Amino acid sequence: MELYKTNTIKILNSLSKKKEIFKPINEGMIGMYVCGPTVYSNVHLGNVRTFMSFDMIYRYFLHLGYKVRYVRNITDAGHLTDDNSEDKISTKARLEKLEPMEIVQKYTVDFHEVLKKYNLLSPSIEPTATGHIVEQIEAIQAIIDNGLAYEVNGSVYFDVLKYNEKENYGILSKRVIEDTIENTRALDGQSDKKNPQDFALWKRAEPEHIQRWNSPWSEGFPGWHLECTAMSTKYLGKQFDIHGGGMDLKFPHHECEIAQAQACNHKAPVNYWMHTNMLNLNGKKMSKSTGNSILPSEIYKGNNDILSKAFSPSVTRFFMMQAHYSSVLDLSNDALLAAEKGFSKLMEAVKGLSGLEVSEVSSIDISSWKQKCYNAMNDDFNTPVLIANLFEGIKYINLIKEEKETITSDDLQDLKMTINTFVFDVLGLEGSSETNQDESKLSGVLEMLIKMRKDARDNKDWALSDKIRDELLALDIQLKDSKDGTTFSVN
Ligand code: AMP
Ligand code: ZN
Repeated sequence: MELYKTNTIKILNSLSKKKEIFKPINEGMIGMYVCGPTVYSNVHLGNVRTFMSFDMIYRYFLHLGYKVRYVRNITDAGHLTDDNSEDKISTKARLEKLEPMEIVQKYTVDFHEVLKKYNLLSPSIEPTATGHIVEQIEAIQAIIDNGLAYEVNGSVYFDVLKYNEKENYGILSKRVIEDTIENTRALDGQSDKKNPQDFALWKRAEPEHIQRWNSPWSEGFPGWHLECTAMSTKYLGKQFDIHGGGMDLKFPHHECEIAQAQACNHKAPVNYWMHTNMLNLNGKKMSKSTGNSILPSEIYKGNNDILSKAFSPSVTRFFMMQAHYSSVLDLSNDALLAAEKGFSKLMEAVKGLSGLEVSEVSSIDISSWKQKCYNAMNDDFNTPVLIANLFEGIKYINLIKEEKETITSDDLQDLKMTINTFVFDVLGLEGSSETNQDESKLSGVLEMLIKMRKDARDNKDWALSDKIRDELLALDIQLKDSKDGTTFSVN
């Protein structure tokens, strides 16, 4: 029997702000849509956190035996800068003197490489905005036909106030209509809007705008919010189970998605809205535009000033899984060092699962421990509680080794299976791979060399200290001295 039949999941639904029992529209099947990246720059570690949270959720659904259609889009057109003044991809194309599609290709490749490094599974469908211009034009036409959008000078806007007469614009973000006025500058075209709340479904392209398509209204491009409505409807239907994204997308992006879909299809599109919380750096949201961000490669190569060393993708993944997806998480060197300790302890225990002695009877209740692991995940994917339970399992392993507890062969099988399933399949950690072992050996050797160089410097043996530094540099390993000591980065 499929595990989903005996495991009831509760999900914190951002729409009701309550934990609700999850019931998919079709038994045993789940449709899930997650907003993907805008591919105009390298993804930072904050973006990775959001996609990793949904990867863990996807993995758990698969483990329970659900058939999941997981759609995660690529935004390759239409996403304007926060002040609505420019298109993110076109701007970057001009700066780098490349075609917009070269920018899109470059950063889509980077996105895929990074997610592979962090062991994220591929979604079932990864549609692009530029591949769905026709569907977006059709959606705009439907909204116009339903009287909820209007055209001015070749641009089409969603009529928020009219929509709000019958529906509730603000249902997700809990904003009242007066507070939904976007922070807009008085720019070309903005004055065309009937009301400041209205948002663009189609924009007529200014002469300098490179990405443009023909439409019934003008040569232009679709508004950013529209692509997700068009693509989620196309692949998951007018009503589907789960829609996710980072907390920062609740307004305006997801609020607009609900309004557009409702205006097109006369139905609330999504049953469960899920929002993941932010990864912070220096106490503030990690964000590319403010410069307060760190790249995944800086973490696994160790070349960022906030880090004393490199941290493997699995350690970083473990660090993220130790927090609940809906809590803010602060990135720091100390937190990564602590995660590294916890992660090696877990991996040591997994290795130690093989040589255990079995007995006639078990002194430990493995089935209730196992149930606690499932309960943690069923309670809105509570990975920190799951990890605490896994460590309790490790405690049992040690007690069995010390002959203080006993276990039968069947229970041992169950203990092993449960630990392996949750550690590798659900949390998505990669433990015993050679790269991890090699990385930790390399770190050990480098720390030894750093210590030897310090001794040499303390003894004023400058020749030896310089030799260590220069020979490491020849191997592309750079030592960096600061008042807190010496760190290294591997290029
Ligand atoms: P973007 O490419 O800016 O549309 O972002 C892609 C995804 O990353 C969205 O779901 C954002 O909500 C999410 N995101 C952006 N910054 C952070 C952060 N600091 N922590 C977690 N998720 C983030
Ligand atoms: Zn979206």
